[in-house]
Amino acid sequence: MLNIVLFGPPGAGKGTQSTKLIDRYSLVHLSTGDIFRANIKGQTELGVLAKSFIDQGQLVPDEVTINMLSAEVKKNPNAKGFIFDGFPRTSAQAAALDALLESMNSSISLMLALEVEEEELKRRLLLRGKDSGRADDQDPAVIQKRIDVYNAETFPVRDYYLAQNKYKGVNGIGEVEAIFTALCDQIDAKANS
Ligand code: AMP
Repeated sequence: MLNIVLFGPPGAGKGTQSTKLIDRYSLVHLSTGDIFRANIKGQTELGVLAKSFIDQGQLVPDEVTINMLSAEVKKNPNAKGFIFDGFPRTSAQAAALDALLESMNSSISLMLALEVEEEELKRRLLLRGKDSGRADDQDPAVIQKRIDVYNAETFPVRDYYLAQNKYKGVNGIGEVEAIFTALCDQIDAKANS
């Protein structure tokens, strides 16, 4: 299996690049943010719970997020591999993902990180908020909170994969196509190694 964690702060371009990568490599795309938003739309119990955190720019608790992600992985027993987009966001989530994949005799192949500086992230998120209708992209205070949470809780997850020699950083500023090529180069190098 080819299992990729697409990593980076809010607004780094994970969603855009995931869409392109799943086409190229025939992978299943699991975006925890998208799944939460679908639950909010469907007014499920999970959606109501998740909304209370998302609206404040906070992370949904680990236990809830890990259970949801595990269920989604198990819904795809024949997948060639997964792109995990927006997960793991904490060290506990990273450890849970390793345990889950190990139970399937699999593992993470690579963490690809989109590197974008903070001012550019804020600019992109406010721009996206105008089109997407996402409330959490429209309020500068919520955007700042999400970036702060990323720096405090999510950025350290990088070390988890660095220690396993699986971390690769890619410049996330520039043309979408050029960034996509850089990501594919990393994946192909890993697949051929
Ligand atoms: P995203 O679409 O990835 O920007 O996620 C939107 C929001 O969903 C985040 O700000 C969090 O509140 C929540 N969320 C998404 N993924 C996770 C996760 N792995 N752990 C906790 N909360 C998450």
